[in-house]
Amino acid sequence: MSDVGATPAQADVIVVGAGPAGSATAAHLARCGLDVLLLEKATFPRDKICGDGLTPRAVKQLISLGIDVNGEDWHRNKGLRVYGGRVEPFDMPWPELADFPNFGLVRRRQDFDELLARHAVSLGAELVEGCTVREPIIDDRTHRIVGVRSKDGREFRAPIVVAADGVSSRLSVAMGITKREDRPMGVAARAYFECDRGNGDWMESWLELWDGEPQKSDLLPGYGWAFPAGQGISNVGLGMLSTSPAFARTDYKELMTRWLAATPPEWGFTEENRRGEIRSAALPMAFNRQPAYQRGLLLVGDAGGMVNPFNGEGIDYALEAAAMAAEAISEARARGFGTPNAELALHGYVSNLKASMGGYFRLGTIFAALIGRPEIMKICVHYGLPRRGLMKIVHKLLANLTDKKDGDAVDHLLNTLTRIAPSA
Ligand SMILES: Cc1cc2nc3c(=O)[nH]c(=O)nc-3n(C[C@H](O)[C@H](O)[C@H](O)COP(=O)(O)OP(=O)(O)OC[C@H]3O[C@@H](n4cnc5c(N)ncnc54)[C@H](O)[C@@H]3O)c2cc1C
Repeated sequence: MSDVGATPAQADVIVVGAGPAGSATAAHLARCGLDVLLLEKATFPRDKICGDGLTPRAVKQLISLGIDVNGEDWHRNKGLRVYGGRVEPFDMPWPELADFPNFGLVRRRQDFDELLARHAVSLGAELVEGCTVREPIIDDRTHRIVGVRSKDGREFRAPIVVAADGVSSRLSVAMGITKREDRPMGVAARAYFECDRGNGDWMESWLELWDGEPQKSDLLPGYGWAFPAGQGISNVGLGMLSTSPAFARTDYKELMTRWLAATPPEWGFTEENRRGEIRSAALPMAFNRQPAYQRGLLLVGDAGGMVNPFNGEGIDYALEAAAMAAEAISEARARGFGTPNAELALHGYVSNLKASMGGYFRLGTIFAALIGRPEIMKICVHYGLPRRGLMKIVHKLLANLTDKKDGDAVDHLLNTLTRIAPSA
């Protein structure tokens, strides 16, 4: 195994960033017997601005990683409770499917991320905390990445490097892989509140975010949420898409303060119940950084812009991509790193990503563009929400929850649409 104390340290694979994408990639790789160095700039426990919501898709990924999702630290939910559209709030349970469990979870990133990182370590990955990667080491002859250099001057070397360093992914940028401007972005703000709602068993969402005075201004393309995290803590926030004309001029913390003030006082989203600051961050969507493999570097999670444009969910897609990246890397190692045949396996990561998420992300990009138009957002909320049959379909579409094989007619329709849509 590598020697982190001395330089250079050597491994089969270097993973930069120990968020869900990096830790899951490291865990899968270590389970396959590869030497993995997981480099993380922060020291655990550390927070990450997030809604902390895990849909049944994400739960399935956690189970396949070997994480025990039972126990009181995991707060389970039954589905979505929806507010808006001048109708009574209504519940949409997670669907009963063969492919996914029928429950979601909320777990605060403060300990969720550490749990995943320690899980990777328990499988054999070597975690180096407090290690900020500054730049790639590039081979002069092949122009491939052959390692990374940290801010404090340490060198780590490996034939394959994974960029799992989040939305700004400096490593990808340094390798010439920049953001695409033709993909939607999101911005979201959140804060924690100590209140009874934190013990609820539905993930709640508000589909009416007004640009100004309610009913008299434009409806914004986004939603507010309150996700019960258990132990009397609710993760409350709102997110919005870049496709609306209001995107650039919106002050998200101000919008959130205004929205919170309009919620019923008994919900407890008050200043005195707030625990910590309102903080905001960006959500990169629909593969906004491509290609996901090039010259020895694979992009996983937010680094590759893998957030779902339909609902802002990024953890699941980071975990799914991690499994695919690890499979491609393990395959490449068996074929012999650096050989043309190994390169084919690594490029196969891109094809697999596109085959499994690309059509869906393309539909999400169209959806994001449509609801960015205030008149269409209004039609969706006012005429769509009261139609429960339609909402059941929308629920499955937005959360990407269908059975691939023996599904019902709705599953069949949605699977066909995502299959025929060209990849994002
Ligand atoms: C307000 C908000 C709410 C959200 N809510 C949800 C939600 O409820 N459910 C959901 O599924 N998704 C949600 N998302 C999206 C989700 O947070 C991301 O998609 C997810 O965190 C992506 O994981 P990641 O591992 O790719 O990146 P990150 O979680 O950002 O992890 C990147 C890691 O890389 C490290 N790093 C960065 N640079 C370096 C460097 N130079 N050297 C070493 N390490 C480095 C960072 O410290 C970090 O640990 C939300 C996002 C926001 C902003």
